Amino acid sequence: MKFMTEDGKTALVLGAGGFIGSHMVRRLKEDGYWVRGVDLKRPEFSETEADEFIVGDLTDQLFVERVVVFKGNAGNFYKFVSSKYTQPFDEIYQYAADMGGAGYIFTGEHDADVMNNSATINLNVLNSQRALNDRKCVNKTKIFYSSSACMYPEHNQLDPDNPDCSEDSAYPAAPDSEYGWEKLFSERLYMAYNRNYDIPVRIARFHNIFGPEGTYEGGKEKSPAAICRKVAQVADVGGRIEVWGDGEQTRSFLYIDECIEATRRLMNSDFMGPVNIGSEEMVSINELVDIVSKAAGKPVRRVHKLDAPLGVRGRNSNNDLIREKLGWDYSQTLEEGIQKTYSWILDQVNKKPYSPLHVSV
Ligand code: NAD
Repeated sequence: MKFMTEDGKTALVLGAGGFIGSHMVRRLKEDGYWVRGVDLKRPEFSETEADEFIVGDLTDQLFVERVVVFKGNAGNFYKFVSSKYTQPFDEIYQYAADMGGAGYIFTGEHDADVMNNSATINLNVLNSQRALNDRKCVNKTKIFYSSSACMYPEHNQLDPDNPDCSEDSAYPAAPDSEYGWEKLFSERLYMAYNRNYDIPVRIARFHNIFGPEGTYEGGKEKSPAAICRKVAQVADVGGRIEVWGDGEQTRSFLYIDECIEATRRLMNSDFMGPVNIGSEEMVSINELVDIVSKAAGKPVRRVHKLDAPLGVRGRNSNNDLIREKLGWDYSQTLEEGIQKTYSWILDQVNKKPYSPLHVSV
C-alpha cells in the first residue's frame, strides 16, 4: 500500500468503479493525490489506480461513516486506528448513483430504486461528513456532486432546434424523469448543507459524457456507446442498425477528458455552481449515427424503433456561465471523441468469445 506524501492532498472518490469515477481516480493520481475509491464493484475495464479501493454499499450509513475517515500513515480502512490519528479527506468526488441510458431511466420500471439508492447515498455522505467535521472541529472537506442535465424542465426542451438549458432555467422545476427529480433534490440538499453547516460544495450538471471505458452494453449504456457498439457489430457492407425514435431528437455529448478537466477546475475555484459541464455541439441522433458510421468506415442503414423510451425532444448544453466563471469551454469536436470511443468499443466487441459481427438488426 502506498501512502500520501507529506504535502500531498487526499481525495475520496465515490462511484470509483464506474465510468467517470474511474477516470477521475486516474487524473487525481496524476495530480499527486492519495486516493481512496469506493464502489459496489471494481472498475470493469482496467485496474483501478486508487491507492486503496473499498468494495461496499454507500446506502449503508455505518459504512459511509467509516469511508469518509482518512487514516493516513496510521493504517488502512480495515484496521482499527485511534481517532487521534484520523482526519477528514481534503476532497470528496461523489459520483455514486443508479445510472443509465434511456432504456434504464425513462421506462419508469426503476424509478423507486433510482430515487432511493441515489438519495440515500447523498444523505449518508453529507450526514457522515457533518458528524466527522463536528468530532474533529474542522470543515475542510470540499465535496463535488455530479448532477445531470436531466434536472432541466421538459417544457424548455420540446423544440429540438432551440432547447433552453441555461442554469437559470431550472425553475419552475419539471424534469421528465424521476432520475432528474432526484438530481434536483440532491443539488438542493448539498446547497442546504453548505448554507446551514458550511460544508464547501461544488455542483456540476453533466450533459451526456462519453468515452472509452464507459458502459457499452447490458441495458445501462447511453446513446453514443450504444450506437458505436451496434455499428461495430454489423457487417461491413449493407448493415442495418436500430435507432430509438425517429432520430430527429437532439443532444450534445462531452468527451470524458474534458469533463474531468472542467470538474477539476470547478473544484479549484471559489464558484459553487450548479453549473453546466457539457458541449454545445448539438446534433440529432441521426447525425450521431452518421458520425459513428464515418469513424467506422462502414455505411449503415437506420431502422427506427418508434416506441422506444426517448427522453426530451431536444437538449444542448449552455456554457455561458462556465465560460464566465471558470474560463473553461469544450475544445474537442464530437467526431474526434467518437473516433477514440469507437475504436475502444470495437476492441471490446472483438475481444468477446462470440462476437455477432455479422448480425444486423
Ligand atoms: P456509472 O454507472 O458508470 O457509475 C456510477 C457508479 O456508482 C457505479 O460504478 C455503481 O456501481 C456505483 N454505485 C451505485 N450505487 C452504489 C451504492 N449503493 N454503493 C456504492 N456504489 C454505488 O455512471 P457514470 O456515467 O460514471 O456517472 C457518474 C455520475 O455522474 C452519476 O451520479 C451520474 O448520475 C452522473 N451523470 C453522468 C452522466 C453521463 O453522461 N455519464 C450525465 C449526467 C450525470
